Amino acid sequence: MDNAGLFDQETLPGESVTFTPTRAAGLARLEKFLSRTAQHYERNRNYDFGPERRSNISVLSPWIRHRLITEEDVLKLTLARHSPSSAEKFIQEVFWRGYFKGWLEQHPSVWINYKRDLTQKLDDLAGNSFANADYLTAIEGRTGIDCFDTWAHELIETGYLHNHTRMWFASIWVFTLGLPWQLGADFFMQHLLDGDPASNTLSWRWVSGLHTKGKSYLARPSNIAKFTDGRFDPVGQLSPTAVPLIEDFDHPSLPIPASDALPDAPFVLLVTPEDCQAPALWADKATNVLALPTPKQDRQSDRVHAFKTKALQDSVAGWDATLLTSDWIMQIIETARAANTHHIVTAYVPIGPDADQLNTANTAFAEAGMQLHRVRRPYDTLTWPQANKGFFKVKKQIPKILHGLGLAC
Ligand SMILES: Cc1cc2nc3c(=O)[nH]c(=O)nc-3n(C[C@H](O)[C@H](O)[C@H](O)COP(=O)(O)OP(=O)(O)OC[C@H]3O[C@@H](n4cnc5c(N)ncnc54)[C@H](O)[C@@H]3O)c2cc1C
Repeated sequence: MDNAGLFDQETLPGESVTFTPTRAAGLARLEKFLSRTAQHYERNRNYDFGPERRSNISVLSPWIRHRLITEEDVLKLTLARHSPSSAEKFIQEVFWRGYFKGWLEQHPSVWINYKRDLTQKLDDLAGNSFANADYLTAIEGRTGIDCFDTWAHELIETGYLHNHTRMWFASIWVFTLGLPWQLGADFFMQHLLDGDPASNTLSWRWVSGLHTKGKSYLARPSNIAKFTDGRFDPVGQLSPTAVPLIEDFDHPSLPIPASDALPDAPFVLLVTPEDCQAPALWADKATNVLALPTPKQDRQSDRVHAFKTKALQDSVAGWDATLLTSDWIMQIIETARAANTHHIVTAYVPIGPDADQLNTANTAFAEAGMQLHRVRRPYDTLTWPQANKGFFKVKKQIPKILHGLGLAC
């Protein structure tokens, strides 16, 4: 993933990004970055100049993660400014997200096992004070490895880390500190504003040598010194090897669950923080708009939980929506009954806590005679089936997918 990129100091001014959880703020950041999505991004993207100098990357991930702005928004505006070939690298990076989402949908046991193993690892910490001390030293940024400690604090304080830094951090966590990857992935999920079950879990597995079996990622001091522009130089502090982890389980590949069609009848629209642009697609056709927040996850930071909740509020603003509370299943059923319909529509919710939450309602919906329609976006329908091997297969299909979406001729 490294680039021998040349960067031009004059074009990289100080630029910090404020993560306001609204579509307007996401579009404003996109607008500001659009002129840099071609050669500038390709040349400079691998450098992490620190949180005050983010002009070389888009930093759009918290908005894209919740679809406050969609991949299609990003691609459409990018292609209005640049040709597909000049913005090729940026466009490919945008598709990495769809690759990971599609891959996890086809390998659900990865998520199930991750959750199971995480519980086990946390239990182990509770019973082993030495292991617990090592874990706390890492997450509190007290390891003595300057770069790692700085990044642990940066993650907690800002809710964001640069992509290259995430790779170095995960590699040091697994191969230098010898900590379980599941605990590192969980630490990221607690604090990343873009924390995503697919991108995060599969990236940690990729670094560890579990995603591309036998191929791990080693964080090298010289690489860190170069791509942090000399801010860090952990020479002699990092493991010189990264022996790939192995697991005694072959995750089966399953078909992607079917997508439902929009019913040809009145329906209630259910909005989740997984797709904050669902109201723009369907709210004007719905009898009611209901917003279902993600419950606060164990260990999740207040910052991440507030971002999700406010993103959801922003997405339904202007639609006279009801924010659902703990009695949400009954609230949905009663709203649908009052509207004289048994159809509930939601944007397809991919694997993760929101899907887990929604699955708990299935039986109650069925008993009440309700039908939940999970409608997938064309972007996902076109991208996910390509994500059953490595990224290369998705990459090859990008022109076809863009064409299918009407974004390129
Ligand atoms: C260990 C590890 C954990 C990660 N966890 C997450 C996570 O929880 N959520 C998340 O969105 N990304 C995750 N990533 C991927 C990547 O680091 C971030 O998407 C990226 O840093 C976001 O910054 P940006 O918006 O400036 O990206 P840019 O480089 O400007 O790219 C534009 C957009 O493309 C997508 N994208 C770019 N690179 C990747 C990638 N490698 N994988 C998936 N999508 C990508 C993002 O939506 C991003 O906003 C992880 C990477 C690693 C190595």
